[in-house]
Amino acid sequence: MRLANLNGRLVADTGSGFADVAQASDGRFGSSPQAVYDDWDAFAEWSQGGALEGDAELDPSQLGPPVPAPRQVFAVALNYPEHAAEANFTAPETPLIFTKFVTSLAGAQADVALPTDMVDWEVELVAVIGNGGAHISEADAWSHVAGVTVGQDLSARDVQRRGPAPQFSLGKSFPGFGPIGPWVVSTDEFGPADVELECLLNGESVQSETSAEMIFSVAELIAYISAITPLLPGDLLFTGTPSGVGARRDPPRFLRAGDELVSRIEGVGEIFQTFHDNEKGKAA
Ligand code: ZN
Repeated sequence: MRLANLNGRLVADTGSGFADVAQASDGRFGSSPQAVYDDWDAFAEWSQGGALEGDAELDPSQLGPPVPAPRQVFAVALNYPEHAAEANFTAPETPLIFTKFVTSLAGAQADVALPTDMVDWEVELVAVIGNGGAHISEADAWSHVAGVTVGQDLSARDVQRRGPAPQFSLGKSFPGFGPIGPWVVSTDEFGPADVELECLLNGESVQSETSAEMIFSVAELIAYISAITPLLPGDLLFTGTPSGVGARRDPPRFLRAGDELVSRIEGVGEIFQTFHDNEKGKAA
């Protein structure tokens, strides 16, 4: 099952296209792409019962973030060994968690303003929480995941490095810095499999690695975070980026106006961003 946000309404694939969920369910489920996670088990059961009919095609340019208003957005730094190494860190023994603020979320095709000259790319697998909970065990973790989507953890490295210690959350939360999509693939179609993540800048592959390389698996991250902060339905978890980011290239390379970024994950889909200079001036 793929779930998308078409002009603010929840749509789901039927096998032969997409259907508006509120209409197809006669209002049993609402039109909100966010609220569906509050009633996830009932929705999953209903949608797998073959009740959904429709053959509408999706125009990617009309897709908003499939999870538009999560109450919490978690992200993890240094979760791939080669990326930790390129950043001159040894692999961490505990996950390094931060947040991306929800105003950074964007849909599958976004035109993003560049607030500084040091904006970098990070393709990431993003898990969407279905049933929330606290103290979730690793063994139980995937039963709390509704599905996964493709994300970019766009990062202004200069803002991230301001101050006495790294502050990931602000440097990674400018408007448009959290594009996700094009849809959520539910866990009946996507389990804890090893999948390829790839990021292409102007057609050149700059990141390519499999999710098997993660230092902390999705299940381990859920267990670790939920022991501290209860997870809520519809929360997002950005699970870290592979090696190949621009800041660690020689010479370093950052996004420029006119650049085109494609991020894709095998079995999930791909998202696309273009970039322009921020008319309001630089933030740094
Ligand atoms: Zn990241």
